[in-house]
Amino acid sequence: MVMKLTTEERFWLKVEKSNDESSCWLWTAATMRGGRGSFSGAEENVAHRYSWFLRYGPIGKGLFVLQICGNPSCVNPTHLELSATKRNTRDPAERFWEKVDVLNPDDCWLWTAALTEKGYGTFYFNGQCVGAHRWSWESVNGPVPDGLVLDHLCRVHDCVNPGHLEPVTIAENTRRAVAFGVYGSANRNKTHCPRRHPYNVENTYVSKSGSRHCRVCIRERLRKYRHDPAFAGRAPAYQAHYSTTGGMR
Ligand SMILES: [Zn+2]
Ligand SMILES: [Zn+2]
Ligand SMILES: [Zn+2]
Repeated sequence: MVMKLTTEERFWLKVEKSNDESSCWLWTAATMRGGRGSFSGAEENVAHRYSWFLRYGPIGKGLFVLQICGNPSCVNPTHLELSATKRNTRDPAERFWEKVDVLNPDDCWLWTAALTEKGYGTFYFNGQCVGAHRWSWESVNGPVPDGLVLDHLCRVHDCVNPGHLEPVTIAENTRRAVAFGVYGSANRNKTHCPRRHPYNVENTYVSKSGSRHCRVCIRERLRKYRHDPAFAGRAPAYQAHYSTTGGMR
């Protein structure tokens, strides 16, 4: 018996996908002049435009789908953006914040676009791929000082709330990761967090990579950081972000 493939299945057979959403997904079949993939028999006959269609729905009349990674053979939907012009002239901050799920000022703000394999958000800015949490922190505080890395106080890798980030040395970052434990897919089938709080709708953050995070534990970690004398005055971003982010959403 011969199974007939759907148009969508035929499409993905021609794509070299990666688990890492921050990497490009390459079109391996016919291309047009300029390197963009061509694909026939679908609603859109340009490969990256069809990929957009599959993920987000019909493309409005006269709109362009831009490959913000700059790679003409890339069809990774998280690298694609809709635009009224052929060139991406949109404000980076506008592009950035429309990819962020902001709930409350204090909560984790989850990145909804491309993630690295370790679950960190990535953002295309000035022609290169940068860490989304880093972009967010720097937009409030200026450049991260040389030799320091940003530590997620909440330990949620795809969180871009600048108030949950603190510049620390690499050694300190590693020490904290070990001290607070690593969160991830190992807990998928569990009904409670390691500290027995329920993974119910109200209490659970589900990141795009599928890992779950207990809100009670996140709050307790943040409270500990804020009140521990060892951390006093070391998270200046935390208070700063209210005034600067009030109009984001
Ligand atoms: Zn790409
Ligand atoms: Zn957070
Ligand atoms: Zn918990």
